[in-house]
Amino acid sequence: MLTHLAPVITASWTEHTGWSAPELKPYGHLSLEPTTSALQYATSCFEGMKAYRGNDGALRLFRPDLNCIRMQNSAARIALPSFPASELLTLISALLAQDAPRWLPRDQPGTFLYVRPTMIATDPSLGVQKPKEALLYIVLSMFLPFDENPKGLRLLASEQDTVRAWPGGFGYAKVGANYGPTLVAQGAARRMGFDQVLWLLPRPDGGLSVTEAGASNFFVVWKTREGAVEMVTAPLGNKIILDGVTRRSLVELARERLQGVSMVEREFEMREIVEAADEGRLVEAFTAGTAFFVSSVCEIRFGERDIKLELDEGGNGEYAGVLKGWMKEIMYGPAKREWGFVVEE
Ligand SMILES: *Cc1c(COP(=O)(O)O)cnc(C)c1O
Repeated sequence: MLTHLAPVITASWTEHTGWSAPELKPYGHLSLEPTTSALQYATSCFEGMKAYRGNDGALRLFRPDLNCIRMQNSAARIALPSFPASELLTLISALLAQDAPRWLPRDQPGTFLYVRPTMIATDPSLGVQKPKEALLYIVLSMFLPFDENPKGLRLLASEQDTVRAWPGGFGYAKVGANYGPTLVAQGAARRMGFDQVLWLLPRPDGGLSVTEAGASNFFVVWKTREGAVEMVTAPLGNKIILDGVTRRSLVELARERLQGVSMVEREFEMREIVEAADEGRLVEAFTAGTAFFVSSVCEIRFGERDIKLELDEGGNGEYAGVLKGWMKEIMYGPAKREWGFVVEE
C-alpha cells in the first residue's frame, strides 16, 4: 500500500573512515553481497515517522528528536555505529524540503508522508561479528489514504509459545529482528478475523503481562474497585516494550489535561483486564503508534474468553477520542506546541 518516492538520502560508514558525506540520490535498488551482515544476522534497525501538511500550510514532523535518539539506541543494541541525532534530523528535513512539496501540496492540509530512516550493516564477510561497514538511508513513502476503522480493532491475545520480547532481549529497540518472528502469529490472527496480536509475556509467578499490540503500544482504561478511573500502559523500565513517541505523548497529555483520570505506567496482567470486564469496570482499550495513530479496540479474545468493548459511532472509545483530537491539533494545527517541528521548504 506504499508508493516509494524519489529521491533518497544515503550515507555509508566504515570502522576506519567513519561516516561519508550524505548524498541525495534518485530512488533505486541497493547493491549488496548475498552474505551481507544485515541479510544474514538481522543487523538492521529503522525509524518510522510522518511529515504532516498542516492546516496553516506548514510541513511538520512530530517530535522527530525522539525518533532520532531512538534510532541511536536501536543501532547501539545491535552494534551498529551511532549517527548523530541532530544530523539525522537535518538529513530528514533536507529530503522533505526537496520532495514533500510535490506530494503534499500546500493547499491539501491533512495529508502526510511516511519517513523511514534505516541503518544496516553491510559487511560481506560471513563472520558473526561486530559490523565494520554500515549504510544509512532515508526513504519517503506515501500511504494510500486509509479509512479509520469505524468498527474498532479486534485483538487476539498471544499464546504462551510465542513471545514478542523478553527480559534481557531487545523489545525496546526498533530492530528488524523484532518483526519477522511475529508474522506467523499475526498471519494466524488475521486468518481468524482479528486485526492484531495482543502480546502477552508469561511472568515467573504464572501471570501474563500485557505488553503491546501488533507494532503499537497498548493502553487500557478501567475503574478501580474504589471507583477511580485509571488509564494504564506498560512501563519502559524493564525494556520489554518500545518507547513509542505516540505512547509518550499520550501519557504526557493525559497527565496534563485529562480530568479525573490517573495515568499509570506499570506492569499489568491479562487477569486484571478479565476481572475488570467481569466486574463491569472495563472502560476502553486502544493502541498507539505513528503508523495507525490511536485506534480503539472493540474486542479482545483471550483463550475462550471474548471481551467486548463499546465504541461510539466514529469507532472511538471516550478517552481515545479526546486524546486523538488533541494530538491532531498539534500535528496539523492550530494548537502550537514545541512538539511540532516545522520543516522549511
Ligand atoms: C514503532 C513501534 C511502536 C510505536 O512507536 P511510535 O513512536 O509511536 O510510532 C510501538 N511498538 C512497536 C513494537 C513499534 O515497532
